[in-house]
Amino acid sequence: MSEVMISAQHIVKAFGDNEVLKDISFSLEKGKVLSIIGPSGSGKSTLLRIITQLEKADGGNLFIEGEPLFQNQDGKAVYVSSRQQHSLMLKTGLVFQSFNLFPHFTVMRNITEAQRAVLSRSKEEAEERAWAVLKEMNLEDKADSFPSALSGGQKQRVSIARALVIDPKILFFDEPTSALDPELTRQVLSVIKSLSERDMTMVVVTHEMNFARSISDWAIFMENGYIVEEGEPETLFVSPKEERTRAFITSFQD
Ligand code: ADP
Ligand code: MG
Repeated sequence: MSEVMISAQHIVKAFGDNEVLKDISFSLEKGKVLSIIGPSGSGKSTLLRIITQLEKADGGNLFIEGEPLFQNQDGKAVYVSSRQQHSLMLKTGLVFQSFNLFPHFTVMRNITEAQRAVLSRSKEEAEERAWAVLKEMNLEDKADSFPSALSGGQKQRVSIARALVIDPKILFFDEPTSALDPELTRQVLSVIKSLSERDMTMVVVTHEMNFARSISDWAIFMENGYIVEEGEPETLFVSPKEERTRAFITSFQD
């Protein structure tokens, strides 16, 4: 039996009177890759930020590896204790479009800081893990560099390394290549592809339709706070059922 890593049920979220997520449900099994596509403002980032605990949901249920993060009670999302929230947070890693590296820290320190603060690893343990991941990312020679000395593709690989050293069970990518030119985009996509080949469970928000189609096991098209359509990538990206999905995908083909 495959293990369900994420089960999201009827998630809702508003900012003031702007209802950003209206009723989002999906699940993801271990080792699978889910891609989420949709126009700007459809709520994709908010959904990832709720699962990785950068935002709080207003309602619905969310289970990570079978453990609840919040559950609906009388129409409200009631969260588990802060200790339990923290332990679930460690199971998730988020890679941002904008890298979010500390500019005044070296690459090594960017990658070891959270390991020491959050996992209480010693400097030696944190650096050992960091070297292993820097090697995988082809960044060994950048350990002492500051982010300003790196290309966009290198910065994004550092931020992937920073997420990986925490040993998350699920990795989330929020438009990881939107700030990159085509050459650097290819580098970063190939890193994500190699993670999928190693059976990392991943959720990828992207506008790279061909890439999403090639790596994902399941795909969701979101618009206006709803899942408009979901399905096998070969269906969703090639012959979607909904006119809205078709129009969105067509707008990305040159
Ligand atoms: P997407 O990632 O699909 O572009 P977002 O989740 O970023 O969509 O945003 C969905 C909507 O939520 C937008 O209307 C956006 O302005 C609004 N929004 C996102 N974050 C905040 C916030 N922190 N405060 C207020 N509104 C927000
Ligand atoms: Mg977004």
